[in-house]
Amino acid sequence: MESHGAVRVDWDREATAVGGVAVARKRQRQFFRSADDQSSSRPAVSFLDITCISSRVDVKAMTALLKGGSLEQAHSLVGLQCNVAPAWSQKVLELTAPHLKGLQAVSPLQRHLDRILVMPHLQALCLTNVTGQQARQVSQMASLRRLELHCPLDAPLPELLLPRAVPPAGLRWLRCGVEPLVTALALVQAHASTLEELQLVTASVDPAGCPDLVTELKRCSLKNLHRVVLLRHTAYGEQCRHDHPSCKDQLQRLWLMFGESDLFADILCSECDKAELSKSGP
Ligand SMILES: [Zn+2]
Repeated sequence: MESHGAVRVDWDREATAVGGVAVARKRQRQFFRSADDQSSSRPAVSFLDITCISSRVDVKAMTALLKGGSLEQAHSLVGLQCNVAPAWSQKVLELTAPHLKGLQAVSPLQRHLDRILVMPHLQALCLTNVTGQQARQVSQMASLRRLELHCPLDAPLPELLLPRAVPPAGLRWLRCGVEPLVTALALVQAHASTLEELQLVTASVDPAGCPDLVTELKRCSLKNLHRVVLLRHTAYGEQCRHDHPSCKDQLQRLWLMFGESDLFADILCSECDKAELSKSGP
């Protein structure tokens, strides 16, 4: 996945267009703060963004981070580029593991994932360049409430058969940009009892990645859904096929379908509802 090594998780197209670091960081911060809000009366999150340090081998900076004491204080860690210096990334995960509640990592190797899977307090996780095995494993993490997964078009995941999460375990929030769409839907179905918000990368016009998105989502039997956001671009900056008439039709059909289950959820499109999404956050 070297060619995707520098990708940032950033759904905001305007932010991408201008480089977007500040906006993307703000959104990441919101993502993890939301996770942190779900528990307790802990003091303010210690948020650590190590994108600049982990994206290239800089011996002094990397050593200073390991010895500086900040990792032991971090509750949220963003920008861990796992494949640049895998052993160093492993050490970062070991030092943060006891307290970490939110993590965003790119290109994790299996050894990194094995460490992530046993983090006792992890509630929010974002992985880019994820593999099928890794998606299956993190989907079953009992502590997770928020999960975001991405894979590039040229490295699709296998179809997954996943056990259904049993409450109180289960995701409340899922942002899914994995290929093929049926695999994304398997993740949705596994968390159908608890999922409150679903953000899904998909096109508004055929082929949308599955024969009929509305029918497929109906089959998931979601129980607590409050909001759906259809994302019209990938984390890698690629645009999904989209036009306004087909989008309006797709959103209406979804709203009617969920209404049949007494779920009158907000159904939004990242292109058509930009203003509303910018107000309400990621
Ligand atoms: Zn739209």
